[in-house]
This record gives sequence, structure tokens and C-alpha cells, in this order.
Amino acid sequence: SNHISKPHIVLFPFLDQGHIRPFLSLFSHIRRRHPDLTITLVSTPGNIIITRSILPSFLSLNFHSIPFSPELHGLPSNADTTCKVPFPLIISFLKASESLRPAFENFISSLSYPVHIISDPFFSWSVEVSRKYNTLHSIFLTSGAYSTTVWFSLWLKVPLGLRPSVDDEFQLPELNVKIHISQCSKNMLEADGNNQWATFFQRQIRLCLQSDATLVNTVEGFEPMGLQMLRKWLSMPVFPVGPLYHSASLLTNNNGIAEWLNTKPPASVLYISFGSQFTVHARAMMELAIALEYMSHPFIWVIRPPLGYDIREKFKAEWLPEGFEGRVKLQKKGLLIHEWAPQVEILAHEATGAFLSHCGWNSTLESLTHGVPVIAWPLLADQFYNSKMLEDMGLAVELARGLMADLEREWVQEVVQTVMGENNKGKELKLKAREIREVMETAWKEDGDEGASSKGLNDFFQFASKKIIDKQDMVFS
Ligand code: UDP
Repeated sequence: SNHISKPHIVLFPFLDQGHIRPFLSLFSHIRRRHPDLTITLVSTPGNIIITRSILPSFLSLNFHSIPFSPELHGLPSNADTTCKVPFPLIISFLKASESLRPAFENFISSLSYPVHIISDPFFSWSVEVSRKYNTLHSIFLTSGAYSTTVWFSLWLKVPLGLRPSVDDEFQLPELNVKIHISQCSKNMLEADGNNQWATFFQRQIRLCLQSDATLVNTVEGFEPMGLQMLRKWLSMPVFPVGPLYHSASLLTNNNGIAEWLNTKPPASVLYISFGSQFTVHARAMMELAIALEYMSHPFIWVIRPPLGYDIREKFKAEWLPEGFEGRVKLQKKGLLIHEWAPQVEILAHEATGAFLSHCGWNSTLESLTHGVPVIAWPLLADQFYNSKMLEDMGLAVELARGLMADLEREWVQEVVQTVMGENNKGKELKLKAREIREVMETAWKEDGDEGASSKGLNDFFQFASKKIIDKQDMVFS
């Protein structure tokens, strides 16, 4: 092993901003530590254009573009990211994404040895490419340790064979976690083991289990139990390297949001957003608006057309109480944001006091990094388990659950008052959120006591070089 060359790192995120952004953030941490490594991000042309536009130009990242023809799979021809895919077609999109395989394989075979693929779990088939070309392979989980373990474990158990009403709440044996039937997506409950959701996820998860190592976007001190579960369950080295998020807004116009926030008292504003691609149903939108108008707390609401409409279509005033937007604007009480909000900037502002969130993992990390407690409305998938964990940890109160949840104005007011008010529960939530903010803030510390995630990433590279030496010995002996 006297001829060890540095590995070419190939980053392979899923076709979605919510995945690409944490990969970019991971990249910038790697780049700072290893200025001379060759690192290439592989994606489709459209996703590469967006990625280039949000990458600071001083960081050198290569791009390799591979073609994707969604129309060959019954999808709209522009559907090259999940947010451009109508929800019922998501499963077709997931399946179609494996058509990238021949081009990906071509690229890997063209690289000189050694290579280290860092792949999204949705592209876990890349582990088969990795075996074929004798590269090192890691999975980078862009979701949390707790929720991923529960999500993986549940899918592998499909069909769940639950008897509704008897088994409303059931135990996941090897995890010692109790799940309620309302915390399982419809597709999971209806899957019989042979339907396309179950087939896709079971195969995808089994391939993940064959990887050499797992990186996860979390912090040791934030999710100790989740990480313990994940380590036990995966039986491979797991390296927490969070919080990783990318704060560059797609639209850099701030629209006077900071100025508006500057006029509000500390921790007084409720921020509301359901992520990059979700929205709530029409009745809930009305109830939420009415609740907000009668409350004293100012709010910023990233609002989209309700469920059932294309979320990119023009917003209609009739979806809200008559005159709502004009009134709250005039009273300087509420801001409605109809396009992309500078979420991280809003959460970082001291006027922001709580986040009504669907508990997507990026939103969760961004909120807690800034010490903002969560009012949770998980809509589907791993969001249920993020919400559950946050509630168990005393960082959130769950307001509603599931896409079709009923929302009542009185309940909204009560929960907002509990989280943002000067009562005991509110104070506890704030204290706990501040404690976790500290854990997040120190995670990437490099001087003095090394932060947990700095150490995680260094350990990962040490593990990887040892593995590469082993492989090289095998190749050249
Ligand atoms: N986001 C944003 N502005 C918006 C909507 C979303 O900046 O108007 C960002 C948000 O900061 C987060 C990501 O988009 O980084 C959403 O990711 P998350 O995992 O929370 O939810 P998803 O969109 O994947 O459901």
C-alpha cells in the first residue's frame, strides 16, 4: 500500500432541493478540511443549474450531468425535481429515478481509482454500482436518526397487519417505540407487501443496509436515543455530521421582511411554513387565518394554494376570509409570503418566537439551531416521527396530524398561547429549545474542544481512508 492516492468523492443527492442543499453543506465542510480532494456532484441538468446558482463561487465543486427523461415514465417532461411532480405521481418519480443508473455507472467506470460514492438513500441502488467497480460507498441520510430508523423499520414490516381500533397504538419490537396508526402514511397502511410503494421502499432500504457507512444530518447531543437506535439497527459505522443546511435563498429579495421583523418585540412572531412542496387543505387554511386574526401575536405565513391545487398557481383571495390579507397588512400584524421565503433569516431573527411547521427535517434543524420551539403539524412520511420525537423531548407541541386533519380555531389559539405565552409549559419549551441551540452551535467547533460533528466528519474520513487502503491492498496484491 505504498501508492495510496486520494479518493475522488462522488456526491449523489436525490433530485430535490431538500436533499441537494444538505449535500452542498456537507461538501463545504469536506472542502474546508480537504482543499485538494477532487469532488464531483452528479445530477440532472436542471438540478445542476439550480445548484450552481446557490453554491458560493470560491468553493470548487465539479459537476457531472446525467440525462433524465421523465416523460418516458408517464411524468410531465419538466418533472426533474420532486416539487414539480403532482403528489400521486411521486412513486412513479421515485421509480423513474433509477433510469439514471446506466449513465451513473458509465461515469463511475470512467474515473480512476480510488473512488468514494456518497449517495442519497433514495439512490441506494448505487451500492450495486459501487460493488461492481470496487469503490467505497456511504449513505448520507438527510433526515433524522430517530425518524429514519422508525421509517425504515416500519416499511420492512409491511404489511403491518393491524386491526384498526384494537391496534390503534402498536409497539415496534426491536426499537421499543410506540407508534399510533395515525402516524403511518396512507400508503404504508394500505400497502400489502406487493404494492409499488412497499416494493420500492423495501428494496431501497435493503440496499441501504449494504453500504459501508452512514452519515446522518444530526448532532450526537441532540438525538442520542435516535442515534443509538440507528446504530443498533444498521450495524455499520454511523457518523453524525449535522446540522447541515444551506441558507442561501433561491430568490434573494428580502421584500422588507427583516425591516418588518425589526419592529416586533423579541420572540413575539409566529412563523408558519409547510416546507418546499406541501400545503394544507382549504378548510384548515380558513380556520388558521381566523385564529390568527383574533390573536395578539404577529405572524409571517408562507402561504400556497390549498391542497388539490397546483401549489405554483396564482393565489386567490377567496381561499382566505374576505379582506384578510389587506387587513393584517394594514394593521402590521401579519405578512403573507407567496413565493420562496428566506426561512433561515426569519428563524434567526430575535423577533421570531415559534415555528408552525410540518416538521420536515431541514425545517426542524433550522428552527432548533436558532432556539425556536415548534408547533407541529406533521403531514406525512417521516414528519410524523420528527414531530413525535420533538414532543417527547419537550421541544414541540403537536397541533394536528396528517394531511386531512381537522383544525379548529380555538385549538390553534390554545396551542399558540401555550407555546408562545408566559405560562410554565411555554417557558419550559423555550428553555429546552435554547439548550438544544447550544448543542447545535457547538457541533462544528474546531478550536479548543472539538465539536461533535467536526469529530464525526474527521472520524468518517479516517474510517474511509482505512477502508480504501484495505481495498487497494486487495486490488494490488
Ligand atoms: N424553504 C425556504 N423557503 C420557503 C420554503 C422552504 O427557504 O419558502 C426551505 C427551508 O428553509 C428548508 C427547506 O426549504 O431548508 C424545506 O425542507 P424541509 O426538510 O423542511 O421540508 P420539505 O420541503 O423537504 O418537505
